Amino acid sequence: MRARGAHGARTVRRAIYHGLSATNDRSPEYILKELRENMPTKFLCRDLAPGVDAASAIDTADEQLTFDHAYLESWWANPAFMAGTILHEIAHAKGYEHGDTSGLDYGYAPSWQLDACSRAISSGDYHPDEGFGIVPIAHGDYADYRADASQPGQVGGLAGTPKDDLCGPGKFLTGISGYYDDEGIAGLAFQCRLPDGSGTDTTTLRGRAEGTAFAQVCPTGEFLVGIQGMSDSKLRSLGGFCVPMDDIESFTESYDYSLLSIDGANVGETYHRHCPSGHAMKGIRSYATSTGVQGYTLSCEWVGKANEQPVSLLDRAGQTSGQQYLDRCPRYAVMNGLFGRSGAEVDALGGVCLKVYDRGDYVQRGGPGLIVPARGSVSAGQDWPDEECPFGEALVGLDVRSGARVDRVRGICADVEKWSNGTSSPTLTRLSWHGGTGGTLATYLCERDSFLSGWQTWVDEHNGSKRVFGLKPRCIKPEL
Ligand SMILES: [Zn+2]
Repeated sequence: MRARGAHGARTVRRAIYHGLSATNDRSPEYILKELRENMPTKFLCRDLAPGVDAASAIDTADEQLTFDHAYLESWWANPAFMAGTILHEIAHAKGYEHGDTSGLDYGYAPSWQLDACSRAISSGDYHPDEGFGIVPIAHGDYADYRADASQPGQVGGLAGTPKDDLCGPGKFLTGISGYYDDEGIAGLAFQCRLPDGSGTDTTTLRGRAEGTAFAQVCPTGEFLVGIQGMSDSKLRSLGGFCVPMDDIESFTESYDYSLLSIDGANVGETYHRHCPSGHAMKGIRSYATSTGVQGYTLSCEWVGKANEQPVSLLDRAGQTSGQQYLDRCPRYAVMNGLFGRSGAEVDALGGVCLKVYDRGDYVQRGGPGLIVPARGSVSAGQDWPDEECPFGEALVGLDVRSGARVDRVRGICADVEKWSNGTSSPTLTRLSWHGGTGGTLATYLCERDSFLSGWQTWVDEHNGSKRVFGLKPRCIKPEL
């Protein structure tokens, strides 16, 4: 069956390719092909054991999915949640059990991953990629997810010991080399360079140096943002695609990539893995045995990290409970406004960013899309539309009331030039309070010269809806 909803089948397909970790002998492409087999699906309603929402026999031909009455009537079984549960149960019908997690990077069986992947799309909890497909936020071992790193889904199989090869500080991948034979890729190594093209080095060769040698190198000034090729239970072929460093922040599906040759064997299913917009390939986790390279996972990193301005994290307000996020303004931008939802506490918090230019013309709107997405509830409390600092000012801190959760927040603005030059003391402009009166008041202020550019947030459930539990502001010193 096809999962459809507010998002199309194509979005779901791409999310699964990029978000699903393969099992030892099955790639995400193969798993999805199995899920899509047109079977006579039967839905049954039963009273299942307490706590059991749904059930499906393992590896059945008729996709018989049983749902618990109480679950179907529960408040949390909304269409987004149900879509995840249905994919989960169909995965069982195709033979995927909960126990088969050995060797999976994610530590979760495919049924749970499909569940999470489906819900991530419904909640918008993924790296948006402007038409080129999305990369869901990772779970499991990658739960320490950072907004500046991403890991698209596994390619090929997972036999052998995983080896992580990452480029050094500030460097990204510019080339792939290795060996192939009739079976596929025998050995793999990668070339790293600094954004200016200097500092070339090569990672250790994984697999074996036998067969036909190949080398794929991006044109000068370009960096790898993805790999395509063929795979099944083994890595059969691969070819990189490259984008100039300056275009990586804005590349989309219609971008005219530099496609490198595809080397290897013409066997298996085609695959395509890419980093989200703004990210380039930083390294690879590969799996190799004596017969060659079995599979790999891309590691991508935000390219702005290489040129990042000095960053400081302030103390945390509230507690570290639930899902953690790190959100920040794009490169060369700082925050100048807040928006969100609030009632007795802060239900959701987002930010508006501005690009900061030279001191003569110091703060300008940097164009559309310059926001830090609101994390928290999409429906609880009252919506507060974006409230921004006066012209020429940007956020330099926050006043926050907090305890077990974030109760109340308001922005603190300062004149960009005066705050930066350190000689005069600018008057601080306080925006309006949002939230209730609980908790203890504290002021979180960036150092002189630095501005609020994002934050870590922790979002969890309280009284049946999401709230902002913790908030840790992040400051940068922008290049003026
Ligand atoms: Zn299950």
